Amino acid sequence: MPGTQESTGLTLPKALQGVELVKSVRTPAELRYQYTAGAATTRFLTGLAQKKIMGERCPKCGKVYVPPRGCCASDGVPTTEQVDLPHKGTVTSFCIVNVQFYGQAMEVPYTSALVLLDGADLSLMHLLQEVAVEDVHIGMRVEAVWVDDDKIGPTLESIRYFRPNGEPDADVAQPGEHGWGELEHA
Ligand SMILES: [Zn+2]
Repeated sequence: MPGTQESTGLTLPKALQGVELVKSVRTPAELRYQYTAGAATTRFLTGLAQKKIMGERCPKCGKVYVPPRGCCASDGVPTTEQVDLPHKGTVTSFCIVNVQFYGQAMEVPYTSALVLLDGADLSLMHLLQEVAVEDVHIGMRVEAVWVDDDKIGPTLESIRYFRPNGEPDADVAQPGEHGWGELEHA
């Protein structure tokens, strides 16, 4: 039928007949939002601005949560005690990122890891650098590398990344008094 685009079956107005079909449209979208951190996360972020990694201990089970959420998920009680955690820990899990995506700040491949800080019961997700991706392994001992003092602020980006600290690997089955070994038996 004259005026009908074969691919769509649409009948176009005469003025558009013969015009090349638009098959896709790129529409840049932006979403602005304000994040209200809440009391526990505010305490955590304020600590980072002072170059401290602050966790919170449950008064009932003794578990230390970092980042803290203000209460213990197991016991449902507020975590009132602040714990100034060391800046080192153990890799409990990791992911090697090989896929480039829009807005990515890192060059692939790179490693994103869960780091269980010494004395904490919840792993913190962060970047792992200064180590080849093929050498990253569970049990690896790592330390935080902070941004320059004048760049430190209330953000997890105050920690630039974690890197191996040269200590012998932690026993994967027994990462310490706390950690996944204990959680398994809970
Ligand atoms: Zn608890």
